[in-house]
This record gives sequence, C-alpha cells and structure tokens, in this order.
Amino acid sequence: MKILVANLGSTSLKWRLFDFANGAERLLHKGGFERVANHSQAIEDCLAQLKTAGAIATENDLAAVGFKAVLAKGVNGCVRLDEAAVQAMEAFNAIAPAHNPPYIAGIRLFAKRVPNVPLVALFETAFYQWITDAATRYGVPAAWHEAGVRRWGFHGASHKFIAERSAELLGREDVAARARNLYVDGGATPVREPALRVISCHLGGSSSIAGIRNGVAIGNSLGMSPQSGLPHNNRVGDLDAMAVPFMMRTQGLSLDEAERQLCKDGGLKGVSGVSNDIRDIQTAAEQGNTAAQAAIDFFVHEVRRWIGAYLAELNGADALVFTAGIGENRGEIRAAICSQLDQLGIAIDAAKNCSTRGQEAVISAPDSRVKVMVIPTNEELVVAREVKRFLENPRTWQRTTLNG
Ligand code: AMP
Repeated sequence: MKILVANLGSTSLKWRLFDFANGAERLLHKGGFERVANHSQAIEDCLAQLKTAGAIATENDLAAVGFKAVLAKGVNGCVRLDEAAVQAMEAFNAIAPAHNPPYIAGIRLFAKRVPNVPLVALFETAFYQWITDAATRYGVPAAWHEAGVRRWGFHGASHKFIAERSAELLGREDVAARARNLYVDGGATPVREPALRVISCHLGGSSSIAGIRNGVAIGNSLGMSPQSGLPHNNRVGDLDAMAVPFMMRTQGLSLDEAERQLCKDGGLKGVSGVSNDIRDIQTAAEQGNTAAQAAIDFFVHEVRRWIGAYLAELNGADALVFTAGIGENRGEIRAAICSQLDQLGIAIDAAKNCSTRGQEAVISAPDSRVKVMVIPTNEELVVAREVKRFLENPRTWQRTTLNG
C-alpha cells in the first residue's frame, strides 16, 4: 500500500511516499519544491518525479494522498477530504491564515489531478481530543468558546510520534501500544502502573510543548491558533489579548496590519530584529547583538515556563524530550532550557548534550531522575500510518467531533 504525504505551504510543496507492503514501513521517495508560484505545476512535477524514480507506475498506484491538515470547524481526527470537510477547513481560515488556505488550494488541485485517489487528512488537533474541558478553556463568554475560541492544540502528528517512540525507548511497550492505537480505540488499550509521564518539546520554526500521560496528550502550549503558545520563528506566540486594541487605538494600526505583524513580524524575528532562523540569531548574539540575545533568552524563558506547567499537571515527569529543528540540533539551547532544574530531577550530561545532533540519544546525567532525550520527529510517517488505518477500516477509525 503506497501512501503519498503532501506538505503544502503558500510557496512550497514537500512530499514523502511510504510503502506499507508486507507489514513493513518503507520510505520510497521524498522531495520538494520551494518558491513555488504554480502549485498545479508543482503537483505535476511531483508525480513525474515519483514515476521517473520508479516509485509508482501511474497515479493509481497511490492508495491515498495524506495531508497533515491544521484544523477545521466541527471536524477532527482522520477524515476523508470530501467537499464538506474542505469547507469545514475554510470556515476556520481566519484561525490559521498561514496554513489552511494553501492546504485547501492544494487539496482541491490534488482532487482534480488524481480524482480516483482518496484524499485523507489527519488534523493536527487530533491528538488533543481527550484533554479535559478545563484544558480547552479561555476566560471568554460561552458564546466565544462555542464559536471556536478555545485551546485546540496543534503539532499533533509530531507529539504523537514522540509519545509512541519515547515509550518504546523507555521499555514501555504497553504505553507505546496505547499511543499507537489511540485513534482507533480512544485510549482504551490497557497500560500498567506506574503512569508514564512525558513532556515533549517540539522546538522548530513553529514550537510547542505537550504534556503526555500514558501516551495520551493532556495539553499543548498551542491554543486556539498556530500563532499562540511559545514564540515561533515569525509568529507571535501568547500575547495579552488587550495588546491588539491598545496598538490599534494608540498607534493607528488597522486590524489587518496588526494581524500581519503578529503573523509575519512577530516571534523570534520580531524580538531579534535579525532573522526568523535561530542560527542567524545566535550568530548575531555571539557578535554582540543584544536584541538577538534577548530573543534567545526570551525563547528559553518561555520554554521553561511551559515545561513547568506540565511538570505540575503531570505531578513530575519520567522523560523530557526534545525534537524538531531546534530541539534536535541546538545543544546550547537545550542546555539553557535544562539549566538549574536539578531540584526538579532534571540534569543533563554536558558532553552527551553537545555531541547530540539529529539522532536519538539520552542526554541526561546518569543520576537525573527525569530522562532527557532527543528524538527526531517523523510527522509524515504518523500521517501515513493513520491514513493506512483509515483506509483499512474507515468506519471504526473515523472520529468526527462536532465540538468546533
Ligand atoms: P523546523 O521547523 O523543525 O525545520 O526548525 C527550523 C528551526 O530549527 C530554525 O530556526 C533553524 O535554525 C533550526 N534548525 C533546523 N535545522 C537545523 C540544523 N541542522 N542545525 C541547526 N539548527 C537547525
């Protein structure tokens, strides 16, 4: 069974093709285009590359195209992308202006180009379907909550991968199985005591932290929109709601301009004034740029606050996991995040931390109560696995909630 996972940006198309033949999971092909002006042509070129590489003979060799979609109104989980599902995504364009519109455009193009191939979305919100009502709330009137002003949580594919993989690495196959089956049985797979408590830090261009108990998320730092939570590369992160009317009234900003600045000129880019890439910011900081150093210090500060939040909610942790571009590759940022947490049972081994880049490793000191780990994430594989399950048994699998 060959499943193509398409990752769509406003000017990019990236893909991975997985083959699940004979019970194995094989990455057959991966590729992508940046600076895409014509997505229709990019899809054509993607299919041509798959054929040239011998990965498929015709489009009909694809069992499905899977999408790591962000969120939709009233639809969650893993679903077939019919017109109603696409319209439900459109209904929340204003929540994810950088993410939903390019996905919707790409999905419509794929639907036209490969009409016989099922298109299936795994929503990034899917992992948070079992968080408590309290963890979804903002202090807003009930009508706002009903309209969608609530904490959804995102990066679900990545944090689900970490939930499963960290449990495997920690020798908790029971918990790994619960995470693996989560979207099939809603967390009913039995696990033994004690509970496995994991704090997963996805730190990259977009960043978030999830608390995970026994393979199931209890919350995520991303709230209503992908602009919330930790500061991102150029998106704002959490902000006092009164800041927007304040800046509009006192600085004459229009609503559109305020939104543009928060979505495009905020986060690490806004604070540093240098770049949206942590490598450039760090170089500038080393050369004495104080705004660049302030951006790094702010990022580390915010990550520590969220780790603290989940340490409290989970009543401690068994593992603290770093993943994504910054989490996997930036030892100095991991060291800053983990400094002076020994009273909470977190101590890293400086040498192991420095030498770990982009590979699975335990980087905590031998006497650290909490295992600190680096685990490269694999979001596309999670999408492909869930799409496969959906195709095999759409009726039991599909979980469509109407709480949006
Ligand atoms: P992501 O969104 O996961 O691709 O992460 C992007 C962020 O991670 C950027 O701020 C990059 O500076 C950083 N990053 C990604 N890859 C590397 C790498 N190989 N070495 C250092 N930093 C990296």
